Amino acid sequence: MSNAILAVNSGSSSLKFALFAATRQSGEWSNEPLVSGKINGIGRKPMLSEKVNGKPVEISGPLKNIPLEARHGSLIALILERLNSHYSKFNLVAAGHRMVHGGSEFASPVQIDAEVRKKLENLIPLAPLHQPHNLAAIDAITASMPDLPQIACFDTGFHRDMPRLAQLFALPRKLSDDGVIRYGFHGLSYEYIASVMGETLGTVADGKVIVAHLGNGASMCAMLNRHCLSTSMGFTALDGLMMGRRSGSLDAGVVLHLIQQKGLTPDEVWHMLYRESGLLGVSGISNNMKILEESTNPHAREAIDLFCYRAMREIGAMTAILGGLDALVFTAGIGQNSARIRQQICSQLGWLGLQVDADANDRNLSVINAAISEVKICVIPTNEEAMIAAATCDLIAVRK
Ligand code: ADP
Repeated sequence: MSNAILAVNSGSSSLKFALFAATRQSGEWSNEPLVSGKINGIGRKPMLSEKVNGKPVEISGPLKNIPLEARHGSLIALILERLNSHYSKFNLVAAGHRMVHGGSEFASPVQIDAEVRKKLENLIPLAPLHQPHNLAAIDAITASMPDLPQIACFDTGFHRDMPRLAQLFALPRKLSDDGVIRYGFHGLSYEYIASVMGETLGTVADGKVIVAHLGNGASMCAMLNRHCLSTSMGFTALDGLMMGRRSGSLDAGVVLHLIQQKGLTPDEVWHMLYRESGLLGVSGISNNMKILEESTNPHAREAIDLFCYRAMREIGAMTAILGGLDALVFTAGIGQNSARIRQQICSQLGWLGLQVDADANDRNLSVINAAISEVKICVIPTNEEAMIAAATCDLIAVRK
């Protein structure tokens, strides 16, 4: 029986899991999972898709027709049952979790005990869309496998050594001292991209690189020598780029106006900024980029234009911070799949030396810049689960 590590990535309405061999062959970690799955549409119409050794499999048993009321905790319990009965040749030795917020205390992966769990729970107000689901998954595994080591891997971790100026808000010093600073998120995705981008970029990967993680949640990270110099998300994952449902950066005066002049409660403002804004709010149609791309409605068009404008503006700001740009990397659902969005963002950056090769872009190739482009432009699929499993493997030292 071979040892395996379960990586769990619980998002607001999705749950991804992947089982990895708990070994490093010749010091190299395999980023290919043995089994991987994703449950989409939690709370609406949950559906599991699963792959074994990269090939889709037929779903049977209780996860074939998931009840509408199932949430992250109960789904994790079902996934554990399924892994045990269908893939019994694996001996689970640890579970690693994507934990969105590590606050100022947690930068590196940490084994979860009662005290750590409590501290993570205290961070819920800083990541209300994700942290509760991350914790529900931990609790479900504790309930069915109390002795299994569980490791929290932080989305904020990659950004913790950002320069101090990149972390500070221009607020009274006392607030910064209390931890009201820019943390940044999507760190597991950035760490993964940083670890593999040399395969596509060669030595350019060690230069000035901007990685654009464009999914339902969207952010960018400016890297120098594969370390974070700046990132677009802030104290919470509400800051920065326009997202599926989140506004991204906003004049704080708008929040005051909504509360003081419009009489909205803080909860109503929360709901507007996290759930009703972004692509959904501007289009009035959907938070889903694919649906907007297929729409002929002018509001869908304007939502896409604003998404690309904000991305282009962020690239300009990050290039200034980096003092130039060697490569732009696209990743996540929109970044990996939408040739139109990549083209539209880059088309406004010709002055910076970016030139897309239309054919390579349409074919979703990994290098999509034209030969004359002064900046390399790449598409690299992210793999947060591989990063979680590798960190978990290292922490519990189950290397063979
Ligand atoms: P999450 O942040 O939930 O992990 P993903 O990285 O899966 O999100 O990205 C989801 C987004 O990617 C959605 O807006 C979806 O419409 C978009 N997307 C996926 N495939 C395509 C495609 N072929 N064309 C345009 N957008 C796409």
